[in-house]
Amino acid sequence: MMQGGAQTPLQHLTTLLGADCIITEPSALEAANVDQLRSYRGRALCIALPRSTEDVARLLKLCNALRVAVVPQGGNTGYCGAATPDASGTQVVLSLRRLNAIRSIDPANYSMVVEAGCILADVQRAAAAAERFFPLSLGAEGSCQIGGNLSTNAGGVNVLRYGMMRELTLGLEVVLADGRVLSSLTALRKDNTGYDLRQLFIGAEGTLGVITAASLKIFPAPRASATAFVAVPDPERAVRLLAHLRQASGDQVSSFELIPAVALELVTRHVPGARAPLPGGSPWFVLCELTSARPGEALTERLEQALSASVENELVTDAVLAQSERDRRDFWHLRENIPHSQRQEGASLKHDVALPIDRLPIFVSRASAWLKAHVPEGFLVCYGHVGDGNLHFNLSERRGLSSGALVTRRDEIRRVIHDLVRDEGGSFSAEHGIGQAKLAELERYSSDVELGLMRAIKKTLDPNGILNPGKVLNVL
Ligand SMILES: Cc1cc2nc3c(=O)[nH]c(=O)nc-3n(C[C@H](O)[C@H](O)[C@H](O)COP(=O)(O)OP(=O)(O)OC[C@H]3O[C@@H](n4cnc5c(N)ncnc54)[C@H](O)[C@@H]3O)c2cc1C
Repeated sequence: MMQGGAQTPLQHLTTLLGADCIITEPSALEAANVDQLRSYRGRALCIALPRSTEDVARLLKLCNALRVAVVPQGGNTGYCGAATPDASGTQVVLSLRRLNAIRSIDPANYSMVVEAGCILADVQRAAAAAERFFPLSLGAEGSCQIGGNLSTNAGGVNVLRYGMMRELTLGLEVVLADGRVLSSLTALRKDNTGYDLRQLFIGAEGTLGVITAASLKIFPAPRASATAFVAVPDPERAVRLLAHLRQASGDQVSSFELIPAVALELVTRHVPGARAPLPGGSPWFVLCELTSARPGEALTERLEQALSASVENELVTDAVLAQSERDRRDFWHLRENIPHSQRQEGASLKHDVALPIDRLPIFVSRASAWLKAHVPEGFLVCYGHVGDGNLHFNLSERRGLSSGALVTRRDEIRRVIHDLVRDEGGSFSAEHGIGQAKLAELERYSSDVELGLMRAIKKTLDPNGILNPGKVLNVL
C-alpha cells in the first residue's frame, strides 16, 4: 500500500531503505547512466543499493505499487544497452553490488551458493580455494557480476566443455515484480518437479525478476593443461581440426578460439609487448587448450601428436605449443585483447552470431564475399568461440574515411548478415543478449508463436511492466 500520497517516489524509496541505500550523487549516476561501449545513455532517478534479498523484495513491492520502473544493473559490462535506464529520469537503477557474499561451498556435492552481486573473478577464486573450478571465464570477469552473467546467459571461453550459465546453474533465488521471493537454491542435479522455472530467469536480462542468489555447479580443478597457437588455412579446416582434436584427446578440448590474421595484427599494433607467436603469416589461427583434472597427465604430448597428424592431413600449416605458464598467458592475452584493440582502431559494428559448427565455414565465406563487394568502408574482424559455433562477426572502419562512414550503414549491414545467419540455421544473438540493441531483430527472427509465448510470460510475471521496460521484448 502507498502511504503519504504527497511523497515523491524518491522520498518513498528513501523512507523504505534508508538514505545510505539511495544514491543521487551526479557522479555516481553518470556511471550508471551510460553503458560500457558508450552507445546508450539514460538518466536514472537514483541508484538503489539494497543490502539483502528482503530489501530487494520491499523495494520491488513498493516500485510495483507506485508503477516505478526498475533497471537491474550488475557490473554494467554488457554489450546491448540492457542495463541502461531510459532518458525519462524516473527509472530506478537497482545495483546488487552489496549482495556479494559467497553463502556456501559444498566440495563434496560440487556446488556453491553465491549472491548475485559477487564479481565473477571472486566466485572463481572462492571455488579454487576449495580445490574446485568454476568454469565461466570471459574478458570482463574482473568487473561483471554473477547476476549479470545469469541474466545474459553468459558464455565465454569454456562453453565447449562446460556449457553456458544455463548449464552451470542448479537453482536460483529471485525476487518477482510484486516483491514475492521465489526461493529455489537447490543443489540437486535431478529434480523433475514440474516446469523448470529457473530457466525463465536465466537470459531474461532483468525483465522477469531480480536474481538475488544462485546455486552453481563447480567441477574438479584442472591440474594439467596444454595450449597451442595454430596456423590454419581457413575456417573449414579449423572446424575439421576441432573434430579431430576432440577425438584424439579423448574429448579434453576445453577452448577452441578462431583468430584471423587481421585481429592478431590489431592486437600487436595496439597492445604494448604483444607479439605474434608464429613467425610466418597465415590468414587464420586457432588458440586451443586441453585440460585435465588428473595431475601430470601428458596433455602436451597428446596435443603435439594430434597437431603433427593434422599437419600431414593439411588441416594445419604450423603450430607452437606453450612451453610455460608465461607462454600460455601470452597466447590468451592476444585473444583477450581483440575487443580492446578493435576499439582502439576506431568505430566498429558488432555481430554476435551462432551457427551449427558445420555451417560456420559456408557462412563466413558467403558473408565475407558480400562485405567485400558491398562495404568498402569497413574490414572484417571475425573471431570467436568456434568450439561452440559462436562468432563475433565484427567490422572495423577503414582508416582515412570520414568518421562514421561505416556506422551510418549499421542497420543495412546488420540486416544482410543476420539474414545470412538465419539462412544457415543460426542465431543473431549468441551470448550477448538482446537488450535494447536487438529488439527489432528478435521480432524479425522469432515466430509468432514464440513472440506470443514470450509476451504472455512477461505479462504474467510483470503485469505492470516495471521490470527493465523497453528491453528484450516490445510488450504490446
Ligand atoms: C571485455 C569483455 C569481454 C566479454 N566477453 C564475453 C564473453 O566471452 N562471453 C559472454 O557471454 N559475454 C562476454 N561479455 C559480455 C558479458 O557477458 C556480460 O557483460 C556480463 O555477463 C554481464 O554481466 P554484468 O554484471 O556486467 O551485467 P550488466 O551489464 O550490468 O547487465 C546485463 C543484463 O543483466 C541484467 N541484470 C544484471 N544483474 C541482474 C540481476 N541480479 N537480476 C536480474 N537482472 C540482472 C541487467 O538488467 C541487464 O539486462 C564481455 C564483455 C566485455 C566488456
